[in-house]
Amino acid sequence: MTEVINPATAAVFTSVPSNGVEETDAAIERAQRAFGSWRQVAPGDRARLLRRFAAVVDAHIDELADLEVRNSGHTIGNARWEAGNVRDVLDYYAGAPERLSGRQIPVAGGLDVTFHEPLGVVGIIVPWNFPMPIASWGFGPALAAGNTVVLKPAELTPLTAIRLGELALEAGLPEHVFTVLPGKGSVVGQRFVTHPAVRKICFTGSTPVGKSIMAGCAEQVKRVTLELGGKSANIVFADADLERAAAAAPASVFDNAGQDCCARSRLLIQDSAYDRFLALLEPAVKAFRVEDPALATAEMGPLISAGQRESVASYVGGADVAFTGTAPTGAGWWFPPTVLLARSTSDRHWREEVFGPVLSVLPFRDEAEAVRLANDTEYGLSGSIWTRDLGRALRVSRAVETGALSVNSHSSVRYWTPFGGMKQSGLGRELGPDAPQSFTETKTVFIADR
Ligand code: NAD
Repeated sequence: MTEVINPATAAVFTSVPSNGVEETDAAIERAQRAFGSWRQVAPGDRARLLRRFAAVVDAHIDELADLEVRNSGHTIGNARWEAGNVRDVLDYYAGAPERLSGRQIPVAGGLDVTFHEPLGVVGIIVPWNFPMPIASWGFGPALAAGNTVVLKPAELTPLTAIRLGELALEAGLPEHVFTVLPGKGSVVGQRFVTHPAVRKICFTGSTPVGKSIMAGCAEQVKRVTLELGGKSANIVFADADLERAAAAAPASVFDNAGQDCCARSRLLIQDSAYDRFLALLEPAVKAFRVEDPALATAEMGPLISAGQRESVASYVGGADVAFTGTAPTGAGWWFPPTVLLARSTSDRHWREEVFGPVLSVLPFRDEAEAVRLANDTEYGLSGSIWTRDLGRALRVSRAVETGALSVNSHSSVRYWTPFGGMKQSGLGRELGPDAPQSFTETKTVFIADR
């Protein structure tokens, strides 16, 4: 059993079973058997089941959100959005089974037709920072394409995934089509990688673990998508609406206590606007409400664990602190929003993914330097550009090596547009209209005309 802790109080409030290799093998084998009949379900019926799953999730939004607040320390506002996102993802991909059409390609001597065949069992491995949405970005399109799914939640945050597994059955999904298997990454997750019946791994998590999973998948030439770490830049040009950019900057990095792969944790400010922007940013950071995440007014809750708080603190000690916000003291893994001035691009807090409420700031001279600094990282997941010059917005958007950018906004993820990283932030584009195809093999069949 694994104890589950409320990060806002540090109190253990429940425990869940931790599966071993034997249980994992048995679940994968059941999922493989269930695949035989799930792939045969008529597309319209599969669509109806996914819509029903969405409706059952919708009826349990408050319950799921409360569970996430207690298990993950997410603010209640965020947690409701996350549960609603699962419902929306299921509704969106419920449109896919009836649209998974192939092509017909005229060739000499006949015709080629293509089919999108489901893969079989898909293994989804999820991190602790957004337990519900990230799971659904995998299982929504995977199930829609006719695969069965085994899902491993993160050790620290298994509760909402376990509940989603129950809700799927309540909605009428056949048994073993969608199985949630809490347990250790090195045991359950690793077995997904090594078990030959698992035909694709859909991994979201840290870059080091992603690399080892990719190497493991290579052994069996297993398909893999990797959604990994980030160190995204928020680039503010002097011609931008500085008030708007400064008002948006705190949430762009402190949302979910900075435990967000898309966090704009490197703030690049054009030197002529540097002092003015920091003067606008300081009150916005100080006003950011860090409090009991169950309160409707909370904008940020605690960090996920004692270990995470220790790791985040290690980036702040010895650094130049510009200013900080406030956070509760006492029990729980609290950490205040913190703004650091980078001395150079070799500062550890500038280079590494902190995964906490820490923002690093650096000035730049001109557009060319902004692009160079933004790209001076192994990551490439997200980022923002603030300017009133449309041409510059386009030029910089094309030049920054990152998968999901926003102009005059910090919004990154929509389930109906592709989402994923470049460089060491990942491989593959989850979400968007083509995601179900990435859970299929394209088969080509030649039909002779004589
Ligand atoms: P992590 O890599 O430690 O763990 C992620 C998952 O992998 C967990 O379920 C864990 O149990 C499992 N795991 C660990 N070792 C494994 C192994 N050897 N084999 C198989 N599975 C294994 O990541 P984390 O600390 O849970 O999450 C934070 C990281 O996730 C950050 O780097 C963040 O940027 C990244 N992330 C990326 C995205 C994205 O879409 N790009 C989204 C959210 C989080």
